[in-house]
Amino acid sequence: MASPAAPRKQKPVRLNLKPGITPSTAGIGGNDAESPSSILAPPLADLSIPQGLQLDLKPDDIEALNELGSGNGGTVSLVMHKPTNTIMARKIIHVEAKNSVRKQIVRELQIMHKCNSPFIVSFFGAFLHEGDISICMEYMNCGSLDNIYKKTGPVSEDVAGKIAHAVLSGLVYLYDEHRIIHRDVKPSNILLDSAGHIKIADFGVSGQLVNSVANTFVGTSAYMSPERIQGGKYSVQSDVWSLGMTIMELVLGKFPFPPDGKPLSVFELLEYIVHEPVPTLPPGQFSKEFEAFIARSLIKDPATRPTPSELLTDPFCVAIEAKDVDLAGFVKVLQKDS
Ligand code: ATP
Ligand code: MG
Repeated sequence: MASPAAPRKQKPVRLNLKPGITPSTAGIGGNDAESPSSILAPPLADLSIPQGLQLDLKPDDIEALNELGSGNGGTVSLVMHKPTNTIMARKIIHVEAKNSVRKQIVRELQIMHKCNSPFIVSFFGAFLHEGDISICMEYMNCGSLDNIYKKTGPVSEDVAGKIAHAVLSGLVYLYDEHRIIHRDVKPSNILLDSAGHIKIADFGVSGQLVNSVANTFVGTSAYMSPERIQGGKYSVQSDVWSLGMTIMELVLGKFPFPPDGKPLSVFELLEYIVHEPVPTLPPGQFSKEFEAFIARSLIKDPATRPTPSELLTDPFCVAIEAKDVDLAGFVKVLQKDS
């Protein structure tokens, strides 16, 4: 097995943005633009997404159909692999590095062929094309949660619970089977399809790719745990913090920090996360079990914060796993709108 993104020495975050920018205005931790992916939602029956399919991907065989969105690190398009009529999402990442480094990244990305789980976006292949890195993956036809909740409004506790359960299951799979820590859990990296599947994408599989973006602003996210902001070690518990922030954002319909919603510069926001009390849910609106689940995921000290597998045994998680929640009904709203 290729080695996953090894824990690396952290350097202080470099912040050079203008003040007055919040995660939503800066696109930190999310893509604010209305993404065509949430508008273009063809029925799942139109898509062919065989699990573990290995395609011989050549740039000339791939036809771009539509842009799905772009983040700080790349642009994602809906594409067709013409020889097999396979619809895919292709992410193009430009990495300022020597070609040998880019080749190493592409080699390291190949481990994703082995990441087969119902909670992980499937991987079709990665290659270098005109100096950029192309990653071809399963197309999730309802898009990512950042765009989804902006259309649906705040997500119910039950739906958020199912999302938390799926993300935790994906994190446990990545770590237990491949020793991979995700490192970038946030709404834009959690994707849904019209069958109600919830899957995670963009995990730190390539140490070289993580290193290539780590010391730039691109590597900074408002979902980073306090220990990560302070340059501490990245652990599976750091992903749990990011999940806690993400789930809170979904049920509140807005990023949970700062509680009064006043605009903060990026630097102020990161300071706030480290030094101010953790955000809590408004009283009386959610079950005690859900409140306790959120509070456990947002424990500031990573040594006492649970791991993903510990959090999966939390009473809220155990109950939500057994509960029948209509996720396909939840995403249907998105298709009616389009
Ligand atoms: P960042 O670059 O900070 O990680 P991001 O996650 O928004 O932000 P990308 O990973 O480049 O950036 O994704 C851009 C957008 O493309 C996402 O917000 C999502 O809406 C869409 N997208 C990404 N992957 C897929 C996919 N497999 N299927 C459908 N849409 C996708
Ligand atoms: Mg992403």
